[in-house]
Amino acid sequence: MIPFAYARPTTLDEALDAARDPGTAVLAGGTELLNWLRIGIAVPDRVVDISRVPGLDRIEPLPGGGLRIGALVRLNDVAADPNVARDWPVLRMAIHKSASAQLRNLATIGANLLQKTRCAYFRSEEPTPCNRRLPGSGCAAREGHDDRHALFGWTDDCIATQPSDPAVALAALDAVVVTRTATGGRRIPVTDFQLLPSEAIDRDTVLEPGELIEAIELGEPAPHSAYVKVRERESYEYAIVSAAVTVRLCDDGRIAGARIALGSVAMRPWRLAEAERRLVGLAPDDPAVTSAIEAAFAQAHPVPGSAYKVAIARGATRRALMTAAGVRP
Ligand code: SF4
Repeated sequence: MIPFAYARPTTLDEALDAARDPGTAVLAGGTELLNWLRIGIAVPDRVVDISRVPGLDRIEPLPGGGLRIGALVRLNDVAADPNVARDWPVLRMAIHKSASAQLRNLATIGANLLQKTRCAYFRSEEPTPCNRRLPGSGCAAREGHDDRHALFGWTDDCIATQPSDPAVALAALDAVVVTRTATGGRRIPVTDFQLLPSEAIDRDTVLEPGELIEAIELGEPAPHSAYVKVRERESYEYAIVSAAVTVRLCDDGRIAGARIALGSVAMRPWRLAEAERRLVGLAPDDPAVTSAIEAAFAQAHPVPGSAYKVAIARGATRRALMTAAGVRP
């Protein structure tokens, strides 16, 4: 491991000041950053440990409705919150499937959105062509193992996917990332927070140096919501694909509105806008629901080894929709 300086600010202002240097890595729960340091994915001059910064570890109702979740709230504390369990169950489900209980006790909701891809070439401890690790070096996955890679939004430079489970649920909830800088801050829709390879390959999110996630805000409750994760083993594994769905139902049980986000199919959660439009007015068990979902996948463009994921993603989407609507799949 390469030596680095270490700072542990005790206020948000101190943390923002300390994080301004581009050579800085921010430490929260540590479950991701320590892996990056070990493998060499991150080689910071300085690590700024924000885990003691007060005020970022609270969950609070918003005055006009909704919920504000501080960036440093541990995943298991988010899942255990009674408001989340009642009004946003899709987030609770996604968190429960995101990692082992031990990891969920340490990992924070803010840093979870900053996870890097699980592409094996990117995580390799041996020198391997990878445009994300070393821009311009190539993409080993294009000629190698590409069975966990993208269905949407990839380029020849990178075909990787983003692995966060909570991010998928937050995308289906139209959640907002609230950031702070030394001079202000901004509100970023979760669906715009992560960057596709066509937008940038040397960074994963729109965060600028010195910009920290302060909170994540949920809007209107989504009690009819569900998360389905398909993985090789049920106990602990990253997703092959996942689907988060929220639905609003009319009095007669038809779908008044739906939001669908897929995980592990692109470098950010992928909304199925076409299916969302087609589902309005249908009963959840109408055969046209299957057609609406299939039509959305007409835009899928899988890399060769990941073509099998399309059928799995279709099935996960349908199962999540049925579960959210309270219909037996
Ligand atoms: Fe690197 Fe992306 Fe290629 Fe994986 S898919 S080797 S992360 S460039």
